[in-house]
Amino acid sequence: MHYFERMKIKDVLQIENPMQDMIILGWVRTKRVSKNIAFLEVNDGSTLQNLQVVLSPDEFSLLDEVTIGVAIKAIGDLVKSQGGGQKWEIQVKELSIEGSCPGDYPIQKKRHSLEYLREIAHLRPRTNNFAVINRFRSKVSFAIHQFFQSKGFYYIHSPLITGNDGEGAGETFTVTTLDSQLLGEKKIDYTEDFFGTHTFLAVTGQLEGEVLASALGDVYTFGPTFRAEKSNTYRHLAEFWMIEPEMAFCNLRENMRVMEEFIKYLCGYALNHCQEEMEFFDKWIDSGRIQILESIVNSSFGVVTYTDAVTILQKSGAEFAYPIVWGMDLKSEHERYLTESYFQKPMLVINYPKEIKPFYARLNEDGKTVAAVDLLVPQVGEIIGGSQREERYEMLEERMQESSLDFEELYWYLDLRRWGSVTHSGFGLGFERMLMYLSGMKNIRDVIAFPRTPGNAKF
Ligand code: ATP
Ligand code: MN
Repeated sequence: MHYFERMKIKDVLQIENPMQDMIILGWVRTKRVSKNIAFLEVNDGSTLQNLQVVLSPDEFSLLDEVTIGVAIKAIGDLVKSQGGGQKWEIQVKELSIEGSCPGDYPIQKKRHSLEYLREIAHLRPRTNNFAVINRFRSKVSFAIHQFFQSKGFYYIHSPLITGNDGEGAGETFTVTTLDSQLLGEKKIDYTEDFFGTHTFLAVTGQLEGEVLASALGDVYTFGPTFRAEKSNTYRHLAEFWMIEPEMAFCNLRENMRVMEEFIKYLCGYALNHCQEEMEFFDKWIDSGRIQILESIVNSSFGVVTYTDAVTILQKSGAEFAYPIVWGMDLKSEHERYLTESYFQKPMLVINYPKEIKPFYARLNEDGKTVAAVDLLVPQVGEIIGGSQREERYEMLEERMQESSLDFEELYWYLDLRRWGSVTHSGFGLGFERMLMYLSGMKNIRDVIAFPRTPGNAKF
């Protein structure tokens, strides 16, 4: 052990025995001063816990400069804490200021509103709430890789710039180097653009995922996704992260089993490996969250067909802003009624009308519905969209025709069905929606460090 190197507070708090001459670097969260002693609570971002730093009058000369938010370096001895509340404290021998922090520092209170903090996205990571969220994001990201890697899936990287608009849903951002101002009234000619064609930011990595699943078997992506969602909702971002497994030799039922196991694994991981974060969420964000996750780990998800779900909604007597009829996509109010009020557990809704699902979802024998599945969870609604993919060449061609898709652009996707086509399936989990579900945070803007929403991409 090198006593003269700086130690992170997370590691300091694990130490078993007293130690001399430790170096601590961090930001002051609180200061209490009396005549013969001063206490600083110092945080260095490594953990939610602060370290108590104790100053004797010998060190009082700098005390006026030690304000909330100031960065300090403290050298001292780690001793058993006199007071309650913490095991250890640092008895300071030498204190210096790394970075001062004048009183106009916007984060002064213990608890600011989430709305206020959204306005200062560059500073909010320093609050407990957002530091916890950002550490949690990191840990859950690791769990995602761990889950798939342990099952023999390969992590692949799908392109972020693409010439196909994914699902033909039209919520795309164009990528261009052309200056549209200079073009004036003229229609943009994308053949003169950087890629010689109209390109977009990817709304999904799935189609490329299928290319690699056709070679490696089981693969997954985990990366950013872009959708020009025009409306401001609690669960939509213009830039979000998505996990998209794609599995060869896998049908809809097997796909659903992977989904359920995956979601339960993430719940279990949060409970077992993110105790500090889960206790924080349970205490400050959503009381009972831990219990909800525990019950998920030990329960089974329900399954209902779209058609039965519509009947349930119609018979429910509940008042919906959009009354439901067969053929209509479920709105978040319908999703939440089903999963929160009616079934009161995560629900897999299967066999949607083909018109409301993307062209690649496999047509069922009834000719009207497709082998698609959404996972709905209480509070958030849809967190996963998935399907068994259409592996039959003629059927896919037909569905592409119906959706007016360009065969020339998607020839490579059809080729997958021409040579060695197999039953295959996959799904997309919205990472931020999963974080909302795990944490109980109510707004998707608060589970990502830099949310991108209509009118908001400043920093
Ligand atoms: P919604 O109906 O809620 O807009 P979607 O049907 O467009 O969702 P999919 O295309 O199936 O969603 O995408 C897969 C998953 O990606 C969704 O289940 C959701 O978890 C997540 N997702 C989709 N759009 C967004 C978004 N704009 N912001 C954050 N997550 C999203
Ligand atoms: Mn959408």
